Amino acid sequence: MSLTTEFERLELPLEHEFAIARGSSAVAENVVVRITDDDGVTGVGAAAPSAHYGETVETVEAVLPDFLSAVEDVGDPTNLQRIEVELATVVRDNPAARAAVSIACHDYAAKRADMPLYRYWGLDPARTVESSFTIGLDTTERMRAKTREAVNAGYGILKVKLGTPRDREIVEAVRDAAPDATIRVDANEAWTPREAVANTEWLADLGVEFVEQPVPAENPEGMRFVREHGALPVAADESCVTLADIPEVAEVADVANVKLMKCGGPREARRLIAAARAHGLEVMLGCMVETNAAIAAAHHLVPLVDYADLDGSLLLAEDPYEGVPVPAGHVDLAAVERPGTGARPVESGDSS
Ligand code: MG
Repeated sequence: MSLTTEFERLELPLEHEFAIARGSSAVAENVVVRITDDDGVTGVGAAAPSAHYGETVETVEAVLPDFLSAVEDVGDPTNLQRIEVELATVVRDNPAARAAVSIACHDYAAKRADMPLYRYWGLDPARTVESSFTIGLDTTERMRAKTREAVNAGYGILKVKLGTPRDREIVEAVRDAAPDATIRVDANEAWTPREAVANTEWLADLGVEFVEQPVPAENPEGMRFVREHGALPVAADESCVTLADIPEVAEVADVANVKLMKCGGPREARRLIAAARAHGLEVMLGCMVETNAAIAAAHHLVPLVDYADLDGSLLLAEDPYEGVPVPAGHVDLAAVERPGTGARPVESGDSS
């Protein structure tokens, strides 16, 4: 079958400037990929590259022509195994670019099977979990206001970014504004192991569920120290990138945060999830700040995980793609009747 492929950069302004411990941004840059066959069936995916993992929209756009010509050479995007092997021979790494192509091929394959992607995988839509909503770093008062907004919108699980000198004040303000919410915190590597252990004491008192990436990924012994001496379970995000990281993550953390953009797409993510389970880890599915053209694929994997942090599209001022409905964090797979990931351009005039 002959295929046409294309890609397009998206500049996506955020609802609020998004800040974490190591920086902030007002715009997310994604790259959408489309793979179309002779019959007009199109698979859609997207890359949300992260400079922290060595990718930018420029590196994605540099490698996509080679990835996509490999897909054209295979000629059949439903042959996901062969496509993965061919992509691996083109160039190593570049996981977000690889994920964009992999998501597009999965979308295509499920569309060809005339099934939503979760059904194509045989997953149970009733086993969905609720996604957290992220409260990015800001002044304490603005974080309190954003928390109120999220609670009023119905979110029951909040993920609070930390890594400032006023972390305790922030979490007290968030707890005050959301007395009944489940709260998780993410320090994005900002603490020393001793600080992290001390912080878990008052975080536990404030009813926080777990702490994500308290110390730098380069310090696995520090992660282990926090897990052994701290008062809360520890999730690994920056420490948990590829399949090969899983055994060590299991030594130093309780939860593995798996993201399509870190590992290279849905096939590899399923391997990480299985390996994490085999090593006794709980699993969280996370995301970057990304369009539904990418994140919809992650929503279909939710029945396989314990925790979801899949709010990337909700942080955008406007997403040109719609995907799986996530009202107030409820990942509603059963509502997806369209085949594939369900990602499609928002009808113009429909977005207001
Ligand atoms: Mg994180």
